[in-house]
Amino acid sequence: MDPRLTEAKAIPVRELVDRLGITGLRVAGGELVGPCPLCGGRDRFGINLHSRAFLCRKCGITGGDSIELVRQVLNLSFPDALTWACGEAPASIDPKEAARRRALAEAAEQRQREAQNRYREQSLRDARDIWARSRPGSQGVVRAYLRARGFTPEMLPELPEALRFLVDHPCVKKIGHELVTVHRGPCMIAGVLDAGGALTAVHQTWVDPEPPHGKARITWQGTPMPAKMVRGSKKGAAIRLCTPEGADTLVMGEGIETTLTAMAAGAVPGAAYWAGVDLGNMAGRARRGEGLRYAGLPDLEDREAFVPPAWVRRLIFIQDGDSDPRATRHKLECGLRRAMALRPGLRGQIVHPGEGVDLNDVLTGRDKQDDTRDNE
Ligand SMILES: [Zn+2]
Repeated sequence: MDPRLTEAKAIPVRELVDRLGITGLRVAGGELVGPCPLCGGRDRFGINLHSRAFLCRKCGITGGDSIELVRQVLNLSFPDALTWACGEAPASIDPKEAARRRALAEAAEQRQREAQNRYREQSLRDARDIWARSRPGSQGVVRAYLRARGFTPEMLPELPEALRFLVDHPCVKKIGHELVTVHRGPCMIAGVLDAGGALTAVHQTWVDPEPPHGKARITWQGTPMPAKMVRGSKKGAAIRLCTPEGADTLVMGEGIETTLTAMAAGAVPGAAYWAGVDLGNMAGRARRGEGLRYAGLPDLEDREAFVPPAWVRRLIFIQDGDSDPRATRHKLECGLRRAMALRPGLRGQIVHPGEGVDLNDVLTGRDKQDDTRDNE
């Protein structure tokens, strides 16, 4: 074995990095992380301080040791890389190779963006198609499901128009790289509308065809699967269960059942009741930084978060008692502060029905159910 190999591999990582002219790296989690010396990809390049394995997540240069790093960064043959590593020669990154890498990385990113756009457009088309095929929820599946969840016809004489159903609806999940129909059957379809009132997603709840018609039990090869799923984009959108004329208060829970419970109880007379689909959507992005983990401060740059309509003077978020209280509170406060910042004069409030239960549990007297956060 070439004795220089041992010598080259013993060169301290930082020394090698300096000699290679790689700048801007900082230590993070046992790695040097920063801009890629070849493609310039910001924060995409890392070298493990211990093993010296390196990777750029943008242009894809990767290898397991120092010589390989030299070889790829300087575009040298293995013997030349070894000679360079053990010698005194300064680094010279081949500008042609750097340009080639940059072009490759940009093309890959462009393809990724296009694939994401196609996926978004397809899921939006699917959502609109599912909604168009669904039937009004006044009877049938929606009534049966809600009755199983404790909502008698006396409590909800008229079902919200946002709730519809399909009797034979496939539940398709992406498993590995394939789309698999893991279940089909009756399904409650809730329309999810964006700020402008356009349908951007559907929230689907598969219902057990057997009495008492609760949530369907879906398993795939022995693994339980959520019976709820959103198709389309829920960002900034909500399920509008009821919006009375002249309302100035909006009551919003995460799930359909929680929000319906408050609505059926007439918690705030004359108020609108919308379900926020999930906490992340109600909260939007939070400001990050030291000491801000539970601070509940919104990142106002987030243009995709839910913002209540201009008529809302009072916004009440329902806190589900069965979620992690501290993290949940942080998210709800974040959403309320965003609303207050963007709608001057709006008052925000958080209500919760008690420790360890969500509002619908109070109604049905059952133990906690997993029904508000399993909608992905
Ligand atoms: Zn790179």
